[in-house]
Amino acid sequence: MENNITKKQSVYISEEEKTLNWEEVHNSFKKSFGAEIYNSWLQKISLVKEFNDYLILSVPTRFFRDWIVSRYLDKILEQVKLFKLSVNRIEFKIIEESKQNDGIIKIDEISKVTEIKDSILNYNRLNPNLNFKNFIQGKSNEIALSYSKKVCEHISRYNPLYLCAGVGLGKTHLLNAIGLELQNDNNVMFISAERFMYHFIKSIKKNDMVNFKDFFRKSSVFIIDDIQFISGKESLQEEFFHTFNSLMDKGSQIIISSDRAPTKLDRVQDRIKSRLSGGLVIDIDTPDLDLKTNIIKSKIQEIELQFKEKINLSDDVITYIANESKTNIRELIGVLNRVIAFSRVHNKVLTTNECKNILKDVFNQIKVITVDKIQNVVSNYFNIGLSEMLSQRRSRPLARPRQIAMYLAKKMTTRSLPEIGRRFANRDHTTVIHAVKTITRLSEQDDEMKKNISQIKSLLIEQ
Ligand code: ADP
Ligand code: MG
Repeated sequence: MENNITKKQSVYISEEEKTLNWEEVHNSFKKSFGAEIYNSWLQKISLVKEFNDYLILSVPTRFFRDWIVSRYLDKILEQVKLFKLSVNRIEFKIIEESKQNDGIIKIDEISKVTEIKDSILNYNRLNPNLNFKNFIQGKSNEIALSYSKKVCEHISRYNPLYLCAGVGLGKTHLLNAIGLELQNDNNVMFISAERFMYHFIKSIKKNDMVNFKDFFRKSSVFIIDDIQFISGKESLQEEFFHTFNSLMDKGSQIIISSDRAPTKLDRVQDRIKSRLSGGLVIDIDTPDLDLKTNIIKSKIQEIELQFKEKINLSDDVITYIANESKTNIRELIGVLNRVIAFSRVHNKVLTTNECKNILKDVFNQIKVITVDKIQNVVSNYFNIGLSEMLSQRRSRPLARPRQIAMYLAKKMTTRSLPEIGRRFANRDHTTVIHAVKTITRLSEQDDEMKKNISQIKSLLIEQ
């Protein structure tokens, strides 16, 4: 077999490229892995092409490749580095043994090797405008901000750092700021869970999982945004779990954001939830008036600087906007931009009343109605406990409110039928369909039901 290796080596590598003595490397594999592992797995690895910073190796089957990559890749790299320090990546190609032996190897795929790297890098861009300098500190975010900065000073002390907050409260901004801060001295990977999934699927389709794993596992700072996205996606969770472990093992810093605490993640494996809770979990709260006011003022300054113009908004108007915008900071900035645009077009300093008029529609549209909120309002309205309403009991005084809540969840939120079912103590979507039908019919025929529905709806909109 060893002869065989030597033979392959001489076939695949032209003299001028060859700087590694592959036979030596194999001997060192044998010593460090032991004869058993070596004979079963590593012996079959051949060198296809050698670059300064990475190697392309070949194995005979996909199974071989996956096995080797998942178990031995790090150690193989470690060994190779003993002979050639500049190598920091190993690529595996599947080349059937028959093809290996006939001496002609088609390496036309080699140019594709870096493709995944490039395509991911396109989405890995950090936004220079979301930095620590323009992140305004307030009571609701000071802990998150402070630990985000600490992570930049001491990599892997708080690992993973997990930031959770509802939409528009500054998660992506902070994650991005951490990435900017660390990117000079570290191999920073910044990606949303959705993008991670996209590349995962693409790599499976292209049979290119080695590249995928390799690419993500070599970062020293791995930042993943909106992890709640992995909900219900089993194979993605599997891959994420291994990526996570491998990064933790080698001491990489992991930073994660999510719209909820790890324990509250829906349809996510318990082992992942427990890993995610294993470091530091920090909430960002909704902003208070002070923070909102400060953000408005800082945004005004930013715009003034950028466009070199004076923006005249009275303190009253600023306070009005800060008071009225209750959902999140993204909305706050949207509202502010609208007011500024209006005052620009009409070239005047707005009064609070004018401002009210401009924003009337905006604030009405923005009200976010959630399944939770519907459940709370409905159970309060009928004066029953929330857990009773969600329970399996079928008595009418519980079943009707439950059906009404399901009906409103379908009508007033964007949740799908299965999602709604799950939120009602894991009921099937057919139960939700039945509830929607029943309440639709009753609210047409029954005046009492009609009144109930309309009162609950106004409660939901007012609150
Ligand atoms: P999330 O990722 O939590 O949905 P983002 O990070 O995208 O929220 O924040 C929404 C918007 O609000 C962005 O434009 C962000 O720059 C801004 N923002 C959030 N928090 C702050 C803050 N404390 N100071 C300045 N801007 C902020
Ligand atoms: Mg975000």
